[in-house]
Amino acid sequence: ALVAALGRLGNRQSIRRTQEYADRLSAEDMRDGLLADRVEIYFQPKVLLEQRQMVGVECLARWRHPTRGLLPPAAFIPLIEEYGLIDELTLLILRKGTAQLGRWLRDGYDFKIAVNVSMDNLNRLDLPEIFQAISTEAGVPPTHIVLEMTETRLMDNFLLSLEILTRLRLKGFHLSIDDFGTGFSTMENLKQLPFSELKIDRAFVDGASKDHAARMILESSVRLGKIFNLNLVAEGVETQEDWNLVASSGCDQVQGYFVAKPMKADDLIEWKNSWEK
Ligand code: C2E
Ligand code: CA
Ligand code: CA
Ligand code: CA
Repeated sequence: ALVAALGRLGNRQSIRRTQEYADRLSAEDMRDGLLADRVEIYFQPKVLLEQRQMVGVECLARWRHPTRGLLPPAAFIPLIEEYGLIDELTLLILRKGTAQLGRWLRDGYDFKIAVNVSMDNLNRLDLPEIFQAISTEAGVPPTHIVLEMTETRLMDNFLLSLEILTRLRLKGFHLSIDDFGTGFSTMENLKQLPFSELKIDRAFVDGASKDHAARMILESSVRLGKIFNLNLVAEGVETQEDWNLVASSGCDQVQGYFVAKPMKADDLIEWKNSWEK
C-alpha cells in the first residue's frame, strides 16, 4: 500500500511539474509582457524607528499573469535574468517608480523610493546618465532615489562596477547594500564602495529573538554599519518582539510585515497618514 501511495504521489508530482513547464513564461511572453505593462510595482514602507515617520518605500516588482494572477519576483526574475532582460526590467521599474514618486512629491509628500538593481546591470559606463535622465524626466532629484544592490557573488568586473557606482553616487543617488550578511559583502568592499545604507537581511532579524548566532550577526552588522556611517535598515520585522530587538540593537529604520506589507500606490498615502498619526 505504501509503495502504491508513493507511486501515486510521484505521479502527481510529475504531472504538476509538466504543467509548470507548459506554463513557463517564454522569452517572447516576457519581452511582450515588459512592453504590455504586465509589470506592476508594490510599494513597501521604510519607517524610522524612533519618530513614527515613513521615510521611503521600496519598489517591489509583480507580474500580472493573464491566467495565473499576480506573480511574485521569485516566479519570474530568474527567467528575466536567463533571457537577458534584466536591464529592461530595472529601467522599467525605475521609470515607473520615479514617475509615481514625482506625483507624490508634487502632492506635497516628501520621501524616497528604493529600486532593486542587479549587479548584472552594472555593465555599461553610461548607466548613471541613463538613470539621471529618467529622474530628470520624472522631476525627481537623484537624492530621492536609493539603489538597492545584493552582493550574492563577487562582482564580475570590479573596477567597472566601482566606476559606475561612484558616478551614480556623484550624481546624488543613494546606494544601499541589500541582504547584508548573506553575500560577499566584506569589510574590504564596505571600505571601497560608495554605499550609504546597509539593509540587514531578514534571516538575522527574524532569527535573532531565538538564535544567539543570528543575534550576534545582527548586532555586529549594526556596529560595522555605524563605523562606516551607514544608514541601517532592518528587513523582515514581523512582530513586536522583532521591533524591540532591532530598536535595542541601534538600527535607524525598519521594513517588514509588522509595519506594512507591500501595497499599491493608491493605498500608500492613506496607510502613511494612519501610521504617522
Ligand atoms: P528584497 O529586495 O530583499 O525585498 C524584500 C522582500 O522581502 C520582498 O519580497 C518583501 O515582500 C519581503 N518582505 C518584506 N517584509 C517581510 C517580512 O516581514 N517577512 C517576510 N517573510 N518577508 C518580507 P518580494 O517582493 O517577494 O521580493 C523578493 C526579492 O525579489 C527581493 O528581495 C528582490 O531581491 C527581488 N526583487 C523584487 N523586485 C525587484 C526588481 O524590481 N528588480 C530586481 N532586480 N529584483 C527585484
Ligand atoms: Ca531590496
Ligand atoms: Ca533585502
Ligand atoms: Ca532578500
